[in-house]
Amino acid sequence: MVVLKLLPHRKRNGWSLYMTFLAETWEKTFGARESARLLETFGAGDFSELRPSPKLERVVSKAIEGESVTREDALYLTELFPKEVPFLLLAASAIRNRSRGKTVTYSKNVFVPLTQLCRDRCGYCTFKIEPGEGTLLMTPEDVVDMAEKGAKAGCTELLFVTGDKPELAYQVYRDALGEIGYQTTAEYLIDMGKTGLEHGIFPHTNLGLSTPEELSEFRKSNPSMGLMLENISERLLKRGNAHHGCADKVPKLRMETMEHAGDLSIPWTSGILVGIGETFEERIDSLYALLELSRRYGHLQEIIIQNFNPKEGIKMEEYPPADFLEMLKTVAISRLVFGGDMNIQIPPNLNNRNFTFYLTAGINDLGGVSPLTIDYVNPEAPWPQVERMETEVSALGYELRERLPVYPEYIDERWIDPYVLGKVRERVDERGYVPVN
Ligand code: SF4
Repeated sequence: MVVLKLLPHRKRNGWSLYMTFLAETWEKTFGARESARLLETFGAGDFSELRPSPKLERVVSKAIEGESVTREDALYLTELFPKEVPFLLLAASAIRNRSRGKTVTYSKNVFVPLTQLCRDRCGYCTFKIEPGEGTLLMTPEDVVDMAEKGAKAGCTELLFVTGDKPELAYQVYRDALGEIGYQTTAEYLIDMGKTGLEHGIFPHTNLGLSTPEELSEFRKSNPSMGLMLENISERLLKRGNAHHGCADKVPKLRMETMEHAGDLSIPWTSGILVGIGETFEERIDSLYALLELSRRYGHLQEIIIQNFNPKEGIKMEEYPPADFLEMLKTVAISRLVFGGDMNIQIPPNLNNRNFTFYLTAGINDLGGVSPLTIDYVNPEAPWPQVERMETEVSALGYELRERLPVYPEYIDERWIDPYVLGKVRERVDERGYVPVN
């Protein structure tokens, strides 16, 4: 192996063995040629000489022993030199392995974009359309069709995604909603969630800002819901920044929605965006805002670390993609901040080439994959992306398990409406995962 030639075989101490594992993982992820070049990022060639500085050793040792990482320590970790990053990865992996073992999860979903109209205009958005650029909204019949097809294809999650409150911006959308008997997107989603559940698939709704009354209704059909914090910084709302002109991206309001969800004991998925013009300090502050929320309510079931990728036609098309090393650091620091009990996810479709490498940074979830939407034109090829995930994850010594949109540790009366819970329990094994056929 090309990469292994870079390692100090003469001294096969624990550290060398770990670096060997990292090198092998890197090679499996990126291929032999590119891996040699990329491994140099970590200072390949003199691994036997690598030792953590006393401060780094103190910070990661404390985290491995289960102590909280302070904000100051987390900020220090953001400034590690590339060749120090493997120590951070090692700590993050050790913390994940101790609490989560070698199980990595994912869910099978059907993506339902109920409406792509939105009153906001995020600089990175590829989802929003204007009236006339596509359908105003999916009809109830469309939703039933997707739910039935999803359930038939073995999906367990009906992932509702919409723009934010388009009814406040577009008369034509208000009219379309009115024609099917609704005044708000939330009212429509609440009914469609119930419809999905009755068709054998669990709704997981990402509505945006919501009132306690709306959330309480969603809870009657959704075993879990989600709202990305994205970032806690008000600065990103200012002119020239990613969230300028976005009434629903005010961090305080997003935190309030998640507090309502906490009051109602709704298992909740949140997370941050990486590379949208935020500083590393703002990123760390966002993680600590979510940590505080999690400590208060216990309802954060999952933290997504989502990387920005520029696309043609968006306001931020000239922005660089989130830097890989920064992503690695952010994921690993998140594991140290939240500890072993939190589920930490990176979206594999946004990290298509290197998602398995993030296992070395402490993730334990690969999010939702959508066999129906991605492979709709090749029904004879059963879910290749799941098969690929299984192959790559098991090659690194981990077990891939399918979960529902709600994580196993939240499957009980405290967190899920009794009617929904009954249906959830019918679909999981004794560990809370989807049974293996
Ligand atoms: S909230 Fe932002 S990212 Fe979401 S649909 Fe609207 S403009 Fe796009």
